[in-house]
Amino acid sequence: MTDSTKNKIVIAIDGYSSCGKSTVAKEIAKKLNYIFIDSGAMYRAVALYCLRAGLVVDGQINLKALLENLGKIQISFVFNPSTAHNDVCLNGENVEQEIRQLAVAQNVSQIAAIASVRQLLVAQQQQMGRSKGIVMDGRDIGTVVFPQAELKIFMTADAKIRAQRRYDEMIAKNEPVDFEEILKNITERDRFDETREESPLRKAADAIVLDNSLMTREEQFEWILGKAQEKVMRYEL
Ligand code: C5P
Repeated sequence: MTDSTKNKIVIAIDGYSSCGKSTVAKEIAKKLNYIFIDSGAMYRAVALYCLRAGLVVDGQINLKALLENLGKIQISFVFNPSTAHNDVCLNGENVEQEIRQLAVAQNVSQIAAIASVRQLLVAQQQQMGRSKGIVMDGRDIGTVVFPQAELKIFMTADAKIRAQRRYDEMIAKNEPVDFEEILKNITERDRFDETREESPLRKAADAIVLDNSLMTREEQFEWILGKAQEKVMRYEL
């Protein structure tokens, strides 16, 4: 163990779409003074690249063109002092807001199912966690990216409750939205993520399930923080 990794753990938070993984992961990272990485933002940035480059035609990704373009896609993070979190950049451009659009959400899962895309992003994610002290959320963090993570949480919640939360968020931002469209997007992404061949969404055998359907944000935060503190204490002994 090196000095930089001493007493630090890796926290992997996986689960279904729109469960609030990133929200709670961010708060936990802040509390523990850890790095927070939203791995979904990286897949969304690749999807945004594909949309902008016209690689999605009639809802279908042009796989050959994407593989030819893969070397031109640079994903990085930049610290945003106004939110105190890392924003995702696509080829140096901050795209944190743009990747949240429905067009990106509707195309990201088919792009995230492509093996070469996953290899590229997983290698980058593993590099970011080398010194531990990281909270990363996604779909395959506890199973593929950090199978040795000291704490693995698998988040789930009723699909209608998840859709309602996302709907309320978008309404608050004055974005035009339709509840049924959001619900459809969430359930389709879950189905896609669970049934793909490459790193499907699965609960790791040693992950703890957190069903937050009836929990407030504060309750989720306290629950995960408690589990993290138990692990850190055990690790310090
Ligand atoms: O977490 P978020 O909903 O922003 O992720 C967007 C999409 O990226 C997911 O629906 C999933 O298809 C994909 N994803 C993934 N593996 C991850 C994170 C996200 O396949 N580790």
